[in-house]
Amino acid sequence: MTVPAHLIKGWCPGALRPMRSGDGLIVRIKPRAGAFSISALAAIADAAARFGSGEIDLTNRGNLQLRGVSDDSYDDAITALRAADLIDRSAAVEAVRNVVVDPLSGIDPERPNVCDVAARIEDALADDARLWALPGKFGFSFSGSSEPMVGGRAADIMIAAAGDGFDICLDGATDLRCEVTAGDVIDSVRRLAMAFLDLAAKDHELRRMKAVVARFGAARIFELAGLQVTSRSVDVTVASVSAGLLSRGDLVFGVGIGLPFGRITADQLGRLCQSAEAAKLKDVFTSPQRILVFPVAERAKAELVLQAAASTGLIVVPEDARLQMDVCPGSSGCRNATTDTRADARHLVDVLNGSLSGYSVHVSGCEKGCARQSAADFTLIARAGRYDLIRNGVAGDPIALANVDADDIGNTVSRFILDSAS
Ligand code: SF4
Repeated sequence: MTVPAHLIKGWCPGALRPMRSGDGLIVRIKPRAGAFSISALAAIADAAARFGSGEIDLTNRGNLQLRGVSDDSYDDAITALRAADLIDRSAAVEAVRNVVVDPLSGIDPERPNVCDVAARIEDALADDARLWALPGKFGFSFSGSSEPMVGGRAADIMIAAAGDGFDICLDGATDLRCEVTAGDVIDSVRRLAMAFLDLAAKDHELRRMKAVVARFGAARIFELAGLQVTSRSVDVTVASVSAGLLSRGDLVFGVGIGLPFGRITADQLGRLCQSAEAAKLKDVFTSPQRILVFPVAERAKAELVLQAAASTGLIVVPEDARLQMDVCPGSSGCRNATTDTRADARHLVDVLNGSLSGYSVHVSGCEKGCARQSAADFTLIARAGRYDLIRNGVAGDPIALANVDADDIGNTVSRFILDSAS
């Protein structure tokens, strides 16, 4: 057993730097340019069943993580994952390769393919050791539309397709952009990352782009990177991926399979892979919205995958309220939790019986609020086995109703929904 010594709570985990949690080691696997091959996905399912608890999370950065890997089985898990080409060449490369890719880019005929440029930035991150100094949570995203945020989630540096080139935005200043050509985009992103490192070095509290933007201004960062900045219209509305058949009119281009509260079992994933292999699909893209996107152009094949997913209890319709819910592992997977968040979230869905549709919900096992950074319509924060309810906010915001019994959260949320409708 050679689990590294830095297994401390709060470490941003990888496969080579796993994190110890309440149910064992978390081994996080990052896709390449947003995608896994179907054979790699099957290898992940197999490794989860053999070496972990059999539960796999899809994170809000589109990574897959094995849960419940024991100290004794960790080395074998890494050997199996490495054989499927899922392990980076070093822990430093793995840590810096935080790249989220629009899962619809190159699949939806209206979205250009940004996977190639995302792959090139991953290569640059792996090859340029200066960038390994970036903080562990620092990330990049690539959008195939004019909306720089992928799945509604900000990244430190966001790159969006714009005509033949790209717009680059920074977290905390999405009203500004830098227009670059396809030939210049990698070097521009690299220079922005280096500008961040220069400015962040002035104060070690500055760990994310948003904080550096707040301290120095986005214009200063672009200037330091030698880039021209212009204003950007922020009133674009771009549909994000959802569950079910993905199509434009009669043109089918994919299927989205939602993972209830971001989790899938090894058995469910294995069966999904079998259906994808039967349909002769090659790849799957991961969405920060906890959806697996399979590119497929034939309706019959798309329906084969949807049926397989539905038969195992995965989400195949866009209206499913669980797609709008962020739920942390809770007491079954985290020692900080004082409630069984996943059981309580299921109870919430059952009690509200459809009326939760359209509302975002965050259920958190403690005040840390790991599962969601942005505001939700309803945020439930566990404290000593009960919940505090926050409306239209995040963990730490003012509490609308304190000390709610876990059995009563459904009725409580229902009352708030009725009140806001009256
Ligand atoms: S929010 Fe959830 S996962 Fe995060 S520390 Fe608290 S209980 Fe654990």
